[in-house]
Amino acid sequence: MSHLVRMSFADPSTPQKVLRDISLGVDLTTVPFIGTASDAGLAFDFTFPEPAVKDSVGPLPLALDMWSPTNAFDTSPLRQGCECYTCKNHHRAYLQHLLNAKEMLAWTLLQIHNHHVMDQFFAAARRSISDGTFSQNVDTFERTYASEFPEQTGQGPRVRGYQAKSEYGTPKRNPKVYGRLDDHAEKLMEAESGVATPDTGADGLQAHGFARKSQ
Ligand SMILES: [Zn+2]
Repeated sequence: MSHLVRMSFADPSTPQKVLRDISLGVDLTTVPFIGTASDAGLAFDFTFPEPAVKDSVGPLPLALDMWSPTNAFDTSPLRQGCECYTCKNHHRAYLQHLLNAKEMLAWTLLQIHNHHVMDQFFAAARRSISDGTFSQNVDTFERTYASEFPEQTGQGPRVRGYQAKSEYGTPKRNPKVYGRLDDHAEKLMEAESGVATPDTGADGLQAHGFARKSQ
């Protein structure tokens, strides 16, 4: 069985945990933290095993919080030198504006960037394995970056219907809305029954002078 591809559903929460799974022999893995980080307004900011230029001391953050007010007037890309669609076409201030305006595009652009960073991460890990420097590079990555993603400070996207199903016995996140129509239908029926309707035919209306029959 050792020649078969090994897939993991271990639900890693950070790139460090992905690296640990790879070192244990995992070939394919789910990466749910891309979606959760994008929803939280976080733009990934890591390179495996370390950034080309490192100009600060101490562990670097794994991501930048796009909700931070420091981005309000910042016209630089989410990440310097990033080749993704978001970074090549938009800047941090625009992304922050979209987040504040609760535009779905904000989270879409974040997903594009975050997927791109993960693609680069896996490409670098594959190169590192073929170069025989993987475990050394993992040590460097762990020394370089913080062990967790920054805390979410802003709100996520609006909860949509298909996301709002209850999971593992938790209550539904969105109240049922279509029941309201029953109430509206009832009110409409009441209103309609109050509208004056003639209780006579065309001859009766003509006799009372309300209308004239056409010939
Ligand atoms: Zn980018």
